[in-house]
Amino acid sequence: MASIRNIRLYIDCDLIISSNIELDDMKSHYLCNVMRCTQGENIKCFNSQDGEFLCEIQNINKKSTTIKVLQQIKTPSLESDIWLIFAPLKKDKTDFVIEKAVELGVSKIIPVITQHTNSEKIKVERYKQQAIEAAEQCERLSIPQISTAKSLTDLLTEWNKERVLFFMNEQRNGQDAITTFTKYANKPAAILIGPEGGFSTDEIAKISAQDFVKNISLGPRILRAETAATASLAVWQSCVGDWKKSKENL
Ligand code: SAH
Repeated sequence: MASIRNIRLYIDCDLIISSNIELDDMKSHYLCNVMRCTQGENIKCFNSQDGEFLCEIQNINKKSTTIKVLQQIKTPSLESDIWLIFAPLKKDKTDFVIEKAVELGVSKIIPVITQHTNSEKIKVERYKQQAIEAAEQCERLSIPQISTAKSLTDLLTEWNKERVLFFMNEQRNGQDAITTFTKYANKPAAILIGPEGGFSTDEIAKISAQDFVKNISLGPRILRAETAATASLAVWQSCVGDWKKSKENL
Protein backbone atom coordinates (compact mmCIF):
# COMPACT_ATOMS: atom_id res chain seq x y z
CA MET A 1 0.00 0.00 0.00
CA ALA A 2 1.20 3.54 -0.75
CA SER A 3 2.54 5.54 2.16
CA ILE A 4 0.05 7.75 3.99
CA ARG A 5 1.10 11.27 4.83
CA ASN A 6 -1.07 12.89 7.42
CA ILE A 7 -3.13 14.88 4.93
CA ARG A 8 -6.75 15.29 6.02
CA LEU A 9 -9.32 17.05 3.87
CA TYR A 10 -12.85 18.03 4.72
CA ILE A 11 -15.11 16.87 1.87
CA ASP A 12 -18.51 18.44 1.59
CA CYS A 13 -20.19 15.55 -0.26
CA ASP A 14 -21.07 11.91 0.47
CA LEU A 15 -18.10 9.66 1.12
CA ILE A 16 -19.07 6.25 -0.26
CA ILE A 17 -16.62 3.37 -0.53
CA SER A 18 -15.45 2.77 -4.14
CA SER A 19 -16.84 6.08 -5.39
CA ASN A 20 -14.68 8.65 -7.19
CA ILE A 21 -14.78 12.27 -6.10
CA GLU A 22 -13.66 15.23 -8.16
CA LEU A 23 -12.03 17.87 -5.94
CA ASP A 24 -12.41 21.61 -6.51
CA ASP A 25 -9.63 23.98 -7.66
CA MET A 26 -8.65 24.99 -4.16
CA LYS A 27 -8.14 21.43 -2.90
CA SER A 28 -6.39 20.44 -6.13
CA HIS A 29 -4.03 23.38 -5.77
CA TYR A 30 -3.33 22.44 -2.15
CA LEU A 31 -2.65 18.77 -2.93
CA CYS A 32 -0.71 19.39 -6.12
CA ASN A 33 1.27 22.58 -5.51
CA VAL A 34 1.51 22.81 -1.74
CA MET A 35 1.71 19.18 -0.63
CA ARG A 36 3.24 17.89 -3.89
CA CYS A 37 1.04 14.81 -3.84
CA THR A 38 1.27 12.31 -6.66
CA GLN A 39 -1.01 9.79 -8.30
CA GLY A 40 -1.48 6.67 -6.19
CA GLU A 41 -0.83 8.45 -2.90
CA ASN A 42 -3.29 7.98 -0.03
CA ILE A 43 -4.90 10.79 1.93
CA LYS A 44 -7.68 10.96 4.53
CA CYS A 45 -11.03 12.60 3.83
CA PHE A 46 -13.83 13.25 6.29
CA ASN A 47 -17.16 14.81 7.04
CA SER A 48 -19.47 14.63 10.03
CA GLN A 49 -22.20 12.48 8.49
CA ASP A 50 -20.02 9.73 6.96
CA GLY A 51 -16.88 9.74 9.15
CA GLU A 52 -13.30 9.49 7.92
CA PHE A 53 -11.98 7.48 4.96
CA LEU A 54 -8.72 6.49 3.39
CA CYS A 55 -8.74 7.71 -0.20
CA GLU A 56 -6.39 7.23 -3.13
CA ILE A 57 -5.42 9.96 -5.54
CA GLN A 58 -6.41 8.76 -9.01
CA ASN A 59 -5.44 11.78 -11.12
CA ILE A 60 -3.85 14.98 -9.99
CA ASN A 61 -3.04 18.35 -11.50
CA LYS A 62 -3.29 21.89 -10.16
CA LYS A 63 -6.79 22.43 -11.60
CA SER A 64 -8.50 19.13 -10.94
CA THR A 65 -7.90 16.05 -8.84
CA THR A 66 -9.89 12.85 -8.53
CA ILE A 67 -9.77 10.63 -5.48
CA LYS A 68 -11.21 7.18 -4.88
CA VAL A 69 -12.74 6.33 -1.50
CA LEU A 70 -11.06 3.12 -0.26
CA GLN A 71 -12.04 2.29 3.32
CA GLN A 72 -13.55 3.80 6.45
CA ILE A 73 -11.10 4.58 9.25
CA LYS A 74 -13.41 6.47 11.65
CA THR A 75 -17.14 6.24 12.15
CA PRO A 76 -19.22 9.37 12.83
CA SER A 77 -19.69 10.11 16.51
CA LEU A 78 -21.88 12.29 18.64
CA GLU A 79 -20.12 15.56 19.42
CA SER A 80 -20.54 18.06 22.24
CA ASP A 81 -23.41 20.50 21.93
CA ILE A 82 -21.64 23.70 22.95
CA TRP A 83 -21.82 27.01 21.11
CA LEU A 84 -19.46 29.97 21.31
CA ILE A 85 -20.95 33.42 20.92
CA PHE A 86 -18.29 36.10 20.73
CA ALA A 87 -17.92 39.70 19.68
CA PRO A 88 -15.41 39.78 16.79
CA LEU A 89 -12.02 41.21 17.67
CA LYS A 90 -9.12 42.46 15.60
CA LYS A 91 -8.24 40.12 12.74
CA ASP A 92 -5.48 38.06 14.36
CA LYS A 93 -7.39 37.64 17.59
CA THR A 94 -10.57 36.62 15.81
CA ASP A 95 -8.53 34.06 13.83
CA PHE A 96 -7.16 32.77 17.10
CA VAL A 97 -10.61 32.49 18.71
CA ILE A 98 -12.06 30.60 15.71
CA GLU A 99 -9.14 28.18 15.59
CA LYS A 100 -9.21 27.49 19.33
CA ALA A 101 -13.01 27.16 19.39
CA VAL A 102 -12.79 24.49 16.68
CA GLU A 103 -10.03 22.64 18.55
CA LEU A 104 -12.05 22.87 21.74
CA GLY A 105 -15.01 21.20 20.06
CA VAL A 106 -17.70 23.87 19.65
CA SER A 107 -20.65 22.90 17.47
CA LYS A 108 -21.59 26.43 16.44
CA ILE A 109 -20.01 29.88 16.44
CA ILE A 110 -22.13 33.03 16.42
CA PRO A 111 -20.49 36.44 15.95
CA VAL A 112 -22.41 38.94 18.06
CA ILE A 113 -22.46 42.70 17.65
CA THR A 114 -22.51 44.63 20.88
CA GLN A 115 -22.16 48.34 21.64
CA HIS A 116 -18.39 48.13 21.84
CA THR A 117 -17.82 45.67 18.99
CA ASN A 118 -15.80 46.75 16.01
CA SER A 119 -18.27 45.32 13.51
CA GLU A 120 -16.77 46.64 10.28
CA LYS A 121 -14.85 43.54 9.37
CA ILE A 122 -17.02 40.55 10.10
CA LYS A 123 -16.14 38.09 7.35
CA VAL A 124 -18.20 35.00 7.90
CA GLU A 125 -16.90 33.24 4.75
CA ARG A 126 -13.35 33.69 6.00
CA TYR A 127 -14.32 32.32 9.43
CA LYS A 128 -15.77 29.25 7.69
CA GLN A 129 -12.55 28.59 5.81
CA GLN A 130 -10.57 28.91 9.01
CA ALA A 131 -12.90 26.55 10.79
CA ILE A 132 -12.38 23.95 8.03
CA GLU A 133 -8.59 24.29 8.25
CA ALA A 134 -8.65 23.96 12.03
CA ALA A 135 -10.88 20.87 11.85
CA GLU A 136 -8.57 19.27 9.27
CA GLN A 137 -5.61 19.87 11.54
CA CYS A 138 -7.15 18.73 14.85
CA GLU A 139 -8.71 15.46 13.65
CA ARG A 140 -12.31 16.34 14.39
CA LEU A 141 -14.95 15.13 11.95
CA SER A 142 -17.34 18.05 11.93
CA ILE A 143 -17.01 21.69 10.99
CA PRO A 144 -18.84 23.93 13.43
CA GLN A 145 -21.65 25.88 11.91
CA ILE A 146 -20.72 29.56 11.56
CA SER A 147 -23.74 31.77 11.82
CA THR A 148 -24.13 35.22 10.27
CA ALA A 149 -23.48 38.03 12.74
CA LYS A 150 -26.37 38.97 15.02
CA SER A 151 -27.01 41.95 17.22
CA LEU A 152 -27.06 41.22 20.93
CA THR A 153 -30.71 42.27 21.04
CA ASP A 154 -31.73 39.82 18.29
CA LEU A 155 -29.66 37.09 19.85
CA LEU A 156 -31.49 37.41 23.17
CA THR A 157 -34.94 37.89 21.62
CA GLU A 158 -34.65 34.85 19.36
CA TRP A 159 -33.06 32.61 21.98
CA ASN A 160 -34.43 29.06 22.39
CA LYS A 161 -34.80 28.76 26.16
CA GLU A 162 -33.94 25.06 26.13
CA ARG A 163 -30.32 26.11 25.70
CA VAL A 164 -28.56 27.57 28.71
CA LEU A 165 -26.52 30.70 28.00
CA PHE A 166 -23.41 31.01 30.15
CA PHE A 167 -22.62 34.70 30.34
CA MET A 168 -18.94 35.39 31.01
CA ASN A 169 -19.29 38.61 32.93
CA GLU A 170 -16.18 40.71 33.45
CA GLN A 171 -17.76 42.32 36.51
CA ARG A 172 -16.77 39.06 38.20
CA ASN A 173 -19.84 38.86 40.43
CA GLY A 174 -21.17 35.61 38.91
CA GLN A 175 -21.00 31.98 40.02
CA ASP A 176 -17.87 29.92 39.48
CA ALA A 177 -17.67 28.11 36.16
CA ILE A 178 -17.18 24.52 37.43
CA THR A 179 -20.22 24.55 39.71
CA THR A 180 -22.45 26.18 37.13
CA PHE A 181 -21.37 24.08 34.15
CA THR A 182 -21.80 20.91 36.22
CA LYS A 183 -25.28 21.96 37.37
CA TYR A 184 -26.45 22.28 33.74
CA ALA A 185 -24.47 19.30 32.42
CA ASN A 186 -27.43 17.75 30.61
CA LYS A 187 -28.55 20.85 28.77
CA PRO A 188 -27.42 22.16 25.41
CA ALA A 189 -25.21 25.12 26.20
CA ALA A 190 -23.63 28.30 24.84
CA ILE A 191 -20.85 30.54 26.11
CA LEU A 192 -21.10 34.32 25.61
CA ILE A 193 -17.93 36.45 25.54
CA GLY A 194 -17.85 40.21 25.15
CA PRO A 195 -15.59 42.46 23.05
CA GLU A 196 -12.24 44.00 24.03
CA GLY A 197 -14.09 47.01 25.42
CA GLY A 198 -16.40 44.77 27.45
CA PHE A 199 -20.19 44.87 27.66
CA SER A 200 -21.90 48.17 28.47
CA THR A 201 -23.74 48.52 31.78
CA ASP A 202 -27.07 48.38 29.92
CA GLU A 203 -26.05 45.25 28.09
CA ILE A 204 -24.95 43.56 31.30
CA ALA A 205 -28.32 44.37 32.89
CA LYS A 206 -30.25 43.14 29.85
CA ILE A 207 -28.31 39.88 29.52
CA SER A 208 -28.47 39.14 33.25
CA ALA A 209 -32.26 39.66 33.31
CA GLN A 210 -32.94 36.67 31.02
CA ASP A 211 -33.98 33.49 32.80
CA PHE A 212 -31.95 31.26 30.46
CA VAL A 213 -28.76 33.17 31.34
CA LYS A 214 -26.30 32.03 34.02
CA ASN A 215 -23.87 34.69 35.11
CA ILE A 216 -20.31 33.35 35.44
CA SER A 217 -17.07 34.75 36.80
CA LEU A 218 -13.75 33.43 35.52
CA GLY A 219 -11.82 34.42 38.62
CA PRO A 220 -10.52 37.66 40.04
CA ARG A 221 -8.59 38.95 37.02
CA ILE A 222 -9.94 40.59 33.86
CA LEU A 223 -9.08 38.33 30.95
CA ARG A 224 -8.66 39.29 27.33
CA ALA A 225 -11.65 38.16 25.30
CA GLU A 226 -9.62 35.45 23.56
CA THR A 227 -8.36 34.15 26.91
CA ALA A 228 -11.89 34.14 28.33
CA ALA A 229 -13.17 32.21 25.28
CA THR A 230 -10.49 29.50 25.36
CA ALA A 231 -10.42 29.21 29.15
CA SER A 232 -14.20 28.86 29.52
CA LEU A 233 -14.44 26.30 26.70
CA ALA A 234 -11.61 24.28 28.23
CA VAL A 235 -13.31 24.24 31.62
CA TRP A 236 -16.67 23.27 30.05
CA GLN A 237 -15.08 20.40 28.07
CA SER A 238 -13.24 19.11 31.12
CA CYS A 239 -16.27 19.33 33.45
CA VAL A 240 -19.11 18.12 31.27
CA GLY A 241 -17.85 17.69 27.71
CA ASP A 242 -15.68 15.21 25.84
CA TRP A 243 -12.45 15.62 27.81
CA LYS A 244 -14.01 13.31 30.39
CA LYS A 245 -14.20 10.41 27.95
CA SER A 246 -11.40 11.24 25.58
CA LYS A 247 -10.31 7.65 24.74
CA GLU A 248 -13.79 6.56 23.67
CA ASN A 249 -13.89 9.42 21.21
CA LEU A 250 -10.72 8.73 19.26
N1 SAH B 1 -12.39 45.98 28.85
C1 SAH B 1 -13.23 45.32 29.76
C2 SAH B 1 -12.94 43.85 29.80
C3 SAH B 1 -13.36 43.11 28.58
S1 SAH B 1 -12.73 41.52 28.61
C4 SAH B 1 -12.99 45.87 31.17
O1 SAH B 1 -11.92 46.38 31.40
O2 SAH B 1 -13.89 45.71 31.97
C5 SAH B 1 -13.59 40.78 27.29
C6 SAH B 1 -14.60 39.74 27.69
O3 SAH B 1 -13.98 38.64 28.33
C7 SAH B 1 -15.65 40.23 28.66
O4 SAH B 1 -16.71 40.91 28.07
C8 SAH B 1 -16.11 38.91 29.30
O5 SAH B 1 -17.06 38.26 28.48
C9 SAH B 1 -14.83 38.09 29.33
N2 SAH B 1 -14.13 38.18 30.61
C10 SAH B 1 -12.94 38.75 30.86
N3 SAH B 1 -12.55 38.56 32.15
C11 SAH B 1 -13.54 37.85 32.73
C12 SAH B 1 -13.72 37.32 34.05
N4 SAH B 1 -12.83 37.48 35.01
N5 SAH B 1 -14.89 36.64 34.28
C13 SAH B 1 -15.80 36.46 33.33
N6 SAH B 1 -15.67 36.91 32.07
C14 SAH B 1 -14.55 37.61 31.75
